[in-house]
Order: sequence, then structure tokens, then C-alpha cells
Amino acid sequence: MTQKLRVTVWGENVHDKKNETVAQIYPKGMHECIAEGLREDASLVVRTATLDQPEHGLTEAVLDQTDVLTWWGHCAHGKVDDAIVDRVQARVLQGMGLIVLHSGHYSKIFKRLLGTTCSLTWREAGEKERLWVCNPGHPIAQGIDRYFEIPNEEMYGEPFAIPNPDEVVFLSWFAGGEAFRSGATWKRGNGKIFYFRPGHETYPTYHQKEVRLVIRNAARWAAPEGSRWIDTCPNVPVEKAAEKIVAQGPTLHKAGEAGYR
Ligand code: ZN
Repeated sequence: MTQKLRVTVWGENVHDKKNETVAQIYPKGMHECIAEGLREDASLVVRTATLDQPEHGLTEAVLDQTDVLTWWGHCAHGKVDDAIVDRVQARVLQGMGLIVLHSGHYSKIFKRLLGTTCSLTWREAGEKERLWVCNPGHPIAQGIDRYFEIPNEEMYGEPFAIPNPDEVVFLSWFAGGEAFRSGATWKRGNGKIFYFRPGHETYPTYHQKEVRLVIRNAARWAAPEGSRWIDTCPNVPVEKAAEKIVAQGPTLHKAGEAGYR
């Protein structure tokens, strides 16, 4: 691809402004730290967007120029406008990649696209997390050895109420003994989705080199392929059928009519 991959990093940016611990670890906001990690790859063009901006920074124009969107949210999922969720969902179905991070498991957009509760078990004890690579050949796992560790993280444990992933790339073990599918992929419409677990706001997780590497790999993996699949639901008239047919029986629709929405 000659054109550079355009990544938009979306951040809720609420804890970052209100909580002193979070502000110390992420003085420019978590979204800027995630963006900084992505910018280590010069082939990516990275911008950020936050909840408090008009249309949450995700205008039609911004999404139109976004190949891959990353999403971090936690305490303000309910404040995300449903119209913006509709818009992001439509772009994913067209082919935009989506990387959902950590507490984004409970975001409106993740639940909408996956169709399940996406609940899990959790504990905030600053314990060690070990992320095992399940498929060393997967593009998202490139550059990671058999596993890597994060010294202090929040625990997320099974059951994780997601539809069965197309692939589990990472499986986490926590010092407290729990296990969790911490890196998982799905396809929805023409878009690729990757969920990546690490990133609790009171730990410096997005400064860690392995975490940044995985997110960069995921951005390249989630890049759109082919062309956009625009939802039009077209009527195919009898004369354009692949085989010659004669229309029979009563019809409800007129030729050329658009589908109901
Ligand atoms: Zn958390």
C-alpha cells in the first residue's frame, strides 16, 4: 500500500483529567500515550479524538479518513451518543478496523458489534499479568516471544461473555490464578475487530514496549482490505436476473424500489 495507514485513537479522557494518579502517569492523557506508541511506526498517520469534542471527535469526515480506530473508555460509556455509535458501527461494517482496549469491553460500540454482554470478572490488586502467545504466526503476535509480562495490572478473568472469537491471539494468566482471553479477533461485515485487554488507567501499561508493539501490529492487521462495502440493499429487477425468469404471483414492491429500513 502506497498510502499511509490512517489511525484515529479515541479516548474517553475523563480519569486522565480528574484522577491525580492517572494524570501523573499520562500527563497528556491516555489517548496521547497510545498515539505516541503508534507513531513509533512511521508508516502510520495517527490522530486522536476525545469524548468532550463535538461529535466526540468522530465526525463523518474524520471517520471517512480513518482506516483503523482504537477505543479506550471506562466511566463514561453511557455518555457516548448513540448516533455516533451507529456511525462507527456503519464504518466498521464497511471495512474500517477497530481495536478495543481494556475497559472498552463494556463500551456501547463493542457490545453493539459483538451482540453479547461482554461482561467479565475483575480485581484491582496491581498483580502481575503474563500474556501467552497462542499463535506465534499471527501478524498481531510478531516480535513477541512465547509470552510477555506486565508487572502491575488489573485482573480480568473468565467468563468473558463474548461470542467465540475467530482467533485468540493472547491468553492471560494473572498472579491470583485467573485466566482470560486477552487478545481476540472477529470480523463484522467487512471490518476486522481486535480486543486487547491490558490498559488499566492507574498503571503505566501504555508506556510498555510490548504493549505498544502489539497495538501497532494490530493496527496494521486491522487495515481495510479491498474496497468499502457500502450498505445499499439494492433491488435486482427481473430483467437483470442472471438466468432468464418470468415474474409470477403477486408482488409487493415496485421495480427499482429501495429496501425498507
Ligand atoms: Zn481497568
